[in-house]
Amino acid sequence: MKALQLIGKEKFKFAEVPKPEIKADEVLLKIKKVGICGTDLHIYHGGMKVPLPLIMGHEFVGDVAEVGLDVTNVKVGDRAVAEHVIGCGNCTFCNFGKCNLCIKPTVIGLHRPGALAEYVAIPARLVYRLPDELTYDDGVLVEPLSIAVYGIRRAGVGVGDNVVVVGQGTIGLFIDQVAKAAGASVCGIDVMQPRLDYASKKQLVDIALNSKNGDVAEKYKKETNYAGADVVFEVVGRDETIDLSLSIARPDGKVAVLGVFEHDASINMMDIVKKELHVLGSWTCLNSFEPTLHLLANKHILTDGLITHRYKFADTPKAFIDASSYSDNRIKSAIEF
Ligand SMILES: [Zn+2]
Ligand SMILES: [Zn+2]
Repeated sequence: MKALQLIGKEKFKFAEVPKPEIKADEVLLKIKKVGICGTDLHIYHGGMKVPLPLIMGHEFVGDVAEVGLDVTNVKVGDRAVAEHVIGCGNCTFCNFGKCNLCIKPTVIGLHRPGALAEYVAIPARLVYRLPDELTYDDGVLVEPLSIAVYGIRRAGVGVGDNVVVVGQGTIGLFIDQVAKAAGASVCGIDVMQPRLDYASKKQLVDIALNSKNGDVAEKYKKETNYAGADVVFEVVGRDETIDLSLSIARPDGKVAVLGVFEHDASINMMDIVKKELHVLGSWTCLNSFEPTLHLLANKHILTDGLITHRYKFADTPKAFIDASSYSDNRIKSAIEF
């Protein structure tokens, strides 16, 4: 089969590799679409130690091409999506059912071959049938949406909460929507005006604020007549965005951090101390694919317009170069087979 291998920093090579042989408890997916995310770009730019050559791709949707003897949850011909973190099954965290915190995880597209190939083999317990009413576009967005769903559940967002989402990329725009579905009112913050315009126009947020324009925390408090947000989501991973998140939260409020920080951040600790903030991390997702598929199938989440850039498999190297530029109007880049 054809596969795209990462062979070094910012270097790809198309290769002919054997089609994966599946075990009794595995599923072979014929790939239809793959999403590119910040983690992929981080790996591509050499920011993470990975075994080379590596077939990347952990956000994907495909058709079930083969199933192992013990597989009962999907059948050949089903359209399917899959989680990508395989817990070791032996550590304390796997034993407590928190496989996202496994100390020795195997990640598809990072430690074992991912979806930038014609086929990928996945343990069946990570595979979910895509409901008939959903499209392949919905399917390729299930993984980023499940991260938003997990974050909302971890932070315990409830009816009537005032939520602020700092960062309006794919996951931020999904957090907006899941928070609304949970009954919250939502303020979206970003520096990229086109993303804020999209969020407002599609009514994903009640308020959209550009943090380039003055003290946005003060502005939010003034506009809402509130002491700050009940729950803040940090979905960027920079000094200024975590600082803003801490300052825009109300006393005794929560700050959920999903951003991936490339550097240690310097923050105002007294914001946490004096406001008695509850700061929590939220890492990938856990038991979130099923609720995510329900939210999509019940039309609670809008996916229209989120895939802004599409590339053929043969043009994947260009997709990585283009996506690295983070142009204003780019939200999600997808590779199509
Ligand atoms: Zn991702
Ligand atoms: Zn484990």
